[in-house]
Order: sequence, then structure tokens, then C-alpha cells
Amino acid sequence: MNRRTKCNIILLAWLAGFFLVGFGVWSFQAGHLMILIYLGVSMIAYMLYAFMARCPKCRNPILLRPHRIFGMEIFTWSLVVPAKCRHCGELLP
Ligand SMILES: [Zn+2]
Repeated sequence: MNRRTKCNIILLAWLAGFFLVGFGVWSFQAGHLMILIYLGVSMIAYMLYAFMARCPKCRNPILLRPHRIFGMEIFTWSLVVPAKCRHCGELLP
């Protein structure tokens, strides 16, 4: 199993967890608060992963996706891990 498959499974598990938490706690008094906490925790986990996961060759974060718009370089963060590094083209493990 490679990193891409693992990442997709984690994304699906997150989505399933989100719906489970959503349906499970919505009727409670502070249900929406728990969903906010769930979102916040997953946001922090994603940010940690985004900064930890780096290309072994050029050390750039692999989730950072460069775009070229009107000659300017704009970076966006992607959720899915690419098969190749977007900076140097190195195949990711
Ligand atoms: Zn690279």
C-alpha cells in the first residue's frame, strides 16, 4: 500500500467520522460544539501532516501545490498526496 492509497483511506475515514460524529451528537445540547472541536482537531492534524510530509529530495512540503497565474506563483494546499513531488518531480514513496 503506498502513501496515496493510505491518504485516501484516511480521508474517507475522516469523512465517515465526520458524519458519525454529526449524526451522533447533533441532538445533544452542545452537539454543534463537538463538531467544531472535531473540525478543529482534524485541522490541526492536517496542518501538522502538511508541514511534516516533505519531499526526500528537495525538502519542500509535498502538499503545497504551486500554480502559475499571470506570471505569479501562487501556492495552494491540497488534501490528497500527489504521486510525484511538484517541485522537483521526484517520485514519492
Ligand atoms: Zn521534491
